[in-house]
Amino acid sequence: MPSNTTIYTIPARTGDYVSLQAGQKLKLINPHGNQVIDFWAFVFAGGAPTNMPTSFIRSTATSPSTAPSPAAAATETATETATETATVTAAATAPAPAPAPFPFSTGVQYFSASRTRSILSKLVPSAVDQDVLYTNKSVPLFTLVEDTTTGIHDTLFGCCDRFRYRNLGVGDFEHPSCAENMHLALRKAAAAGLFPAGSISSEWTPDPLNVFMNVPVTTALDRPSGGGRIQCVRPESRAGEYIVLRAELDCVAVMSACPNDIISGVNAGHCTGVEYEVLS
Ligand SMILES: [Zn+2]
Repeated sequence: MPSNTTIYTIPARTGDYVSLQAGQKLKLINPHGNQVIDFWAFVFAGGAPTNMPTSFIRSTATSPSTAPSPAAAATETATETATETATVTAAATAPAPAPAPFPFSTGVQYFSASRTRSILSKLVPSAVDQDVLYTNKSVPLFTLVEDTTTGIHDTLFGCCDRFRYRNLGVGDFEHPSCAENMHLALRKAAAAGLFPAGSISSEWTPDPLNVFMNVPVTTALDRPSGGGRIQCVRPESRAGEYIVLRAELDCVAVMSACPNDIISGVNAGHCTGVEYEVLS
């Protein structure tokens, strides 16, 4: 985790993470122009406001069951033979395996593109309005405090993953992806002790903020083919342009220099590295 104003480079087609404290600012830089950065952020248990709900379920009350539990049934069966008794006793005393989180452990919050769009009533947050990025629990996570681009970013496109490349004619696991970069970065963050390993399922990737990505929306709803179409076109960001996000919560931010060179519009057909800097 950087603690000064060192500029860190994320090589082309790869990702990285950074741990942020509330109040710190993260500067995402496009040193070569035309390169998209997929951006995520996660708030792990202990970093969220204590007055937030810990469950999406309104009531946890359950009705008592009249049927014997599987454990009770197993105990009855175990009395039949000594061998079976030993087996069941061993199973009963063994620690229960920790449930695998899906998609994430209780208490984890994450940047939510859909919540942010809904709360802002915008497709793209703006530094002009000092717009806030929200978590899945509608808690302010970042404020977009500065943007030297023309303000073109995207919250609609899901990040590239191996399934998308497979559909684009690339063999499974034969092309790096933003989803893979995100999970590899999170794995490193967990190894660094920032949160318990396994807190986030490798099968789950939330929608990112696509920094510098250019996805115009067709709004001509009276067209015969309908409106609301989106298309990736060449980014307009120029070399040296950047955005600055102020963290409102302690969090782990993850960035991917999008490796998509299959769809020419995404990164103008040429993937490059990007840079970031933490400003206290
Ligand atoms: Zn990508």
